[in-house]
Amino acid sequence: MSLIIKNFWARLAAAIIIPIFLVTGALFPIVTFHWQERVDSTRLNAETLLESEYDLLLQNMNESFNQVLATAEFPLLRRFLARQKNPQAQQENHTAQHDWEQTDALFKTLMTHYGRYTRLTVIDTQGLEWIAATTEPLLPRPPVVSRAASPAFQNAMALQARDLYVSPPRLGTSGDSEAFVTTVIDIATPIFDEHEQRLGVLLFTLDWSLIIASLPHAREAHQGNALLVDAQGRWLLPDSDSDSDSDSNSNSNSNSNSNSNSNSNSHREGEWFGRPLSEHQPLIWAAMSARNQGTAILDEHLLSFRSHDLRTHHYRSQAGMIVSEANTQPWRLGILLPHPSVRGLLQESPLQLLAIALVYLLSVAFGVLWVLSNHRLRTLRQRALLFSHEARQYAREVQGLYEYAPCGYHSLDSRGRVVKINSTELKWLGYRADEVIGKRYYRDLVTPATRDAFDATFQQVTMGREAAAECELICRDGRHLPVAIQAAAHLTEAGFQYSRATVFDLSERKKLEDRLAKQALTDPLTGLGNRRYLENQAAMEIARAERSRAPLALIVIDLDHFKRINDTYGHDVGDRVLQAFAATAQNLLRDGDVLCRMGGEEFAVLLPNTTREQAMHVAERLRVAIANTPTNIADSSAANEALIAYSASLGVTLVSAGETSLQPAFIRADQGLYAAKEAGRNRVHWHMPIA
Ligand code: GH3
Ligand code: MG
Ligand code: MG
Repeated sequence: MSLIIKNFWARLAAAIIIPIFLVTGALFPIVTFHWQERVDSTRLNAETLLESEYDLLLQNMNESFNQVLATAEFPLLRRFLARQKNPQAQQENHTAQHDWEQTDALFKTLMTHYGRYTRLTVIDTQGLEWIAATTEPLLPRPPVVSRAASPAFQNAMALQARDLYVSPPRLGTSGDSEAFVTTVIDIATPIFDEHEQRLGVLLFTLDWSLIIASLPHAREAHQGNALLVDAQGRWLLPDSDSDSDSDSNSNSNSNSNSNSNSNSNSHREGEWFGRPLSEHQPLIWAAMSARNQGTAILDEHLLSFRSHDLRTHHYRSQAGMIVSEANTQPWRLGILLPHPSVRGLLQESPLQLLAIALVYLLSVAFGVLWVLSNHRLRTLRQRALLFSHEARQYAREVQGLYEYAPCGYHSLDSRGRVVKINSTELKWLGYRADEVIGKRYYRDLVTPATRDAFDATFQQVTMGREAAAECELICRDGRHLPVAIQAAAHLTEAGFQYSRATVFDLSERKKLEDRLAKQALTDPLTGLGNRRYLENQAAMEIARAERSRAPLALIVIDLDHFKRINDTYGHDVGDRVLQAFAATAQNLLRDGDVLCRMGGEEFAVLLPNTTREQAMHVAERLRVAIANTPTNIADSSAANEALIAYSASLGVTLVSAGETSLQPAFIRADQGLYAAKEAGRNRVHWHMPIA
């Protein structure tokens, strides 16, 4: 039983684990496929975004370069600078004033036309700034200031025509107002006259935040982030969202981000500008600095990046050579998008999650139900097995009881043929089962003398009643076995099927009965028949004598003075005398004579086919023999004999014809005996029957 339960728990565990495994096995490729699809699309998004942002940046930069180069070749600008250089011309104040006004107007027009610069400056070869158009309104004639020390001027002075100097992005004021700080880039080119005489430098200050204004869109559209750093990893965007990993900052960043979108001149700009990326995003910096371009998966983000060197990649512009500060090129542009996770995928659709949970639940429930019903079935089967085992054992026991019962059992069909019989009865009969079953009629095993009783009983049984009979069976060795048969019918709706009989062996009982009957007719002291035995024999002999008309004689015998023997020698000796008398008398008599003890020391002899003379003769012989045969009463161990002599008196008569009992003859014989006693004992007297 414990084994069954143990298996049950194991099966229950399997019924839970296996469905979970199967469902997981089925769902895994689907979820993985969806996830992989999402990863691929994210990667594609990042790459597409990167590509478009890169193109935009490049286009903006190239446009700016071309604008600077085109402006540097304006004849008006050349004439203006040439005049500033020529001292003679300087004297013509009104012409100079005119040129200045024209150039100033041109620059103001360019300023609004281009819309992307915070300052347009013309510097002569001495480093003096002659014209400065800014987003702020200008004074009528600004004081001429020296720009000789600025790196843009110094670099540009060393360049040839159509070459460019591009500064790295830096924080700068917007126009003349010191209040507005933004990120700017200086683009400078030398100005030459038609004789290739160096006239000065044209310096455009590009509002950098306008150029890279589209980058934050990556964040909005894809919850991602755009990164732009220089060769040293310094942050080149006015602000940063790169620390979006930390939740506390991401909110404030997205705020500042929206600010920077709505107002590029925000004072908050530059908070992150110039900071090394390796400080707060070492992983990203490591990935970006390792290769020129590629895609990398970092923690929960996917990074697509490429580098761009202004000095070599400006073929779409008209610039000859571009120089910049050492160690700032190339720039590295990156798009950081959240890497899709399986968890995120599942959380996206609660319905899908619910369906998956339902599939798990159903499969486990199905497994558990199956195990429970299976367990019930097993238990029932086990119980049925146990029952059938017990039933078989019980059947064997019953079979044993049937076969070896102390009585016989048999069943007969409607014609009395044996269909079943137990071993006990077969043993009694001395046959084997195969010799009897289906072959013998039971009736044939019954003695002819008792067959009628059997037939009557069997007939009763075939009629559906219970019946019993005492019969004798004929055994194989010829013995007759007295039995009692009790039988009943096995009936169905179709009527009598077969009989069921119990057979009891009566031989022991018969023997006992015989012994008891014999004891009832025997005198225990002498072994002779008693008075009742004599009466039984007399009835037969009288009937026989009647039939054969043969004489029937009766002698009664009484020992003389027997009381004296008892008194003298004791009762035991008296008994032995009685036994000795019986033996002596029996020896003298014929086989057919019946000697009985009538009681006390009185005996009688019935002599069939014996006449008066013969009877008298026998009586006399008895008297003589008794008188001459003293009884030895010594112990068998004693050497000497101790003899007791005794005598008897006898009365003799004949049973008269017509007498149906011995009674009258007894009375007559007793009268003869009485006469013998009277006459002195030890003698025989005849008493005549009354004619
Ligand atoms: P009689 O010659 O007149 O017959 O004298 P009796 O003494 O034989 O006659 P009585 O009838 O007076 O006595 C019979 C005696 O026989 C009495 C009794 O003690 C004795 N007796 C009767 N039955 C038995 C017996 O079974 N065994 C012994 N030992 N004695 C018996
Ligand atoms: Mg007597
Ligand atoms: Mg006597």
